[in-house]
Amino acid sequence: MKHIIILGDGMADWPVDALGGHTLLQHAHTPYMDELARRGRCGMLRTVPEGFHPGSEVANMSVLGYDLSQVYEGRGVLEAASMGVDLQPGDLAMRCNLVCIEGDLLKNHSAGHITSDEARVLIDYLQAHLGNERVHFYPGVQYRHLLVIRGGDKRICCTPPHDVPLKPFRPLLVQAEVPEAQSTAELVNHLTLESQRLLADHPLNLRRQTAGHDPANSIWAWSPGYRPKMEPLAARFPQVGSGVVITAVDLIRGIGRYAGLRLVDVPGATGLYDTDYEGKAAAAVEALRTDDFVYLHVEASDEAGHEGDVNLKLRTIENLDARIVGPIWEAVSGWDEPVAIAVLPDHPTPCALRTHTAEPVPFLIYYPGVEPDSVQTYDEAACREGAYGLLHGDEFIRIFLN
Ligand SMILES: [Zn+2]
Repeated sequence: MKHIIILGDGMADWPVDALGGHTLLQHAHTPYMDELARRGRCGMLRTVPEGFHPGSEVANMSVLGYDLSQVYEGRGVLEAASMGVDLQPGDLAMRCNLVCIEGDLLKNHSAGHITSDEARVLIDYLQAHLGNERVHFYPGVQYRHLLVIRGGDKRICCTPPHDVPLKPFRPLLVQAEVPEAQSTAELVNHLTLESQRLLADHPLNLRRQTAGHDPANSIWAWSPGYRPKMEPLAARFPQVGSGVVITAVDLIRGIGRYAGLRLVDVPGATGLYDTDYEGKAAAAVEALRTDDFVYLHVEASDEAGHEGDVNLKLRTIENLDARIVGPIWEAVSGWDEPVAIAVLPDHPTPCALRTHTAEPVPFLIYYPGVEPDSVQTYDEAACREGAYGLLHGDEFIRIFLN
């Protein structure tokens, strides 16, 4: 049997008054997911373990059955993998934002939404002036870049810049958690202050300011970690000889790489509402012909949740159903080798809250010949009554793949 997980990022939600007290999954017209729930078996999955923040990286690693307490090393290392940077033992990787500092304040975490092309110029400039045997800057996407410090100590306390808009930046500089990490903390702070000196008068920043944009006049490094000790999925589940990940999101690409999955790029897949659904569905079906396992991640519903836009999020859910789940199911249903399908979100992104929560998420599992439970629709309330009950840790992936 082959296996595909279709993950609608942040798709779960809370009951909404304007929808008669229904959740978005209850209200949306989703005939394919409902039919799969009716023919298959459902349950709830806790994807955010105790003590972890409900980030997409945490939740997606949980869906794949990784023990976060063993493998979680922050975002920097996942983005490094996505960028093809092969971290060596002893390398400390950190997410390195380009930010805007105004006076003493951290004005924003994205340098006024700088483009990837502009950012590359600045990161290359920093690498030329601050890079050396120990320090390496790698350009990434938009404001999201990578700092690698050879021999760095991850026991440093850092502040995610999106959490502290318009706060004075100096008290938020890096601090060592243990004496051994003092030199790493000092090095990161030195790089931050040096970046401010170098970037202040960079011609690209002067042009940005003339055009009324925020200058990218500082780095901000956070989320320190080492190369994660993630076993490839195939090592834990020999039936997954080869697998594929399809996503537009760096963090998920990085998880896929460490999980030993092949990255399949879909031109036009943006991670936003205009993502190429048909292209993603076709790529998934194509991958199922050659590989044993596909992890198809669709970001749009999470973005709509962050916008707090109920109607937009309903549309993303209906798009997932009609343009991803339906076509994939129809394409594979006649195959000689049966295909098992799972549908779930990584975490809720309630529109009312506009950010992620750690609550359990509803899932469905369908494969030809499965004995159905009593669940008739795919949503948060119905799946609570499913045969699998509430699953933790790697129970979901073990049940799905075995
Ligand atoms: Zn997510």
